[in-house]
Amino acid sequence: MNKPNWQEYFRTGCCPYCGGENIEGQSIDIDGDTAEQEVGCNDCDKSWYDKYRHTGVWVPSAEPGVFDEFIEREE
Ligand SMILES: [Zn+2]
Repeated sequence: MNKPNWQEYFRTGCCPYCGGENIEGQSIDIDGDTAEQEVGCNDCDKSWYDKYRHTGVWVPSAEPGVFDEFIEREE
C-alpha cells in the first residue's frame, strides 16, 4: 500500500494506509466550533487527526432523556 486513500477513509472508516478496520480514536479536543481527535491504526501503527465541525444540537424533549429534535447550525 503506497499513498493513503483519504476519500476511501471518509466513506468506509477503514485505515487509509492499510485498509484495516482496527482503528482507534483518542480523546477529543474541542476548540470553538471545531474538534480534533487523534486516530491511529492498530494494524500498521500509522496515526492522523480527524477534524470535525459543530453542525447542530439535539434538544431535550418533555420526556427525560429523549432528544428527538435536531437544530441544524445555519451558515
Ligand atoms: Zn493501517
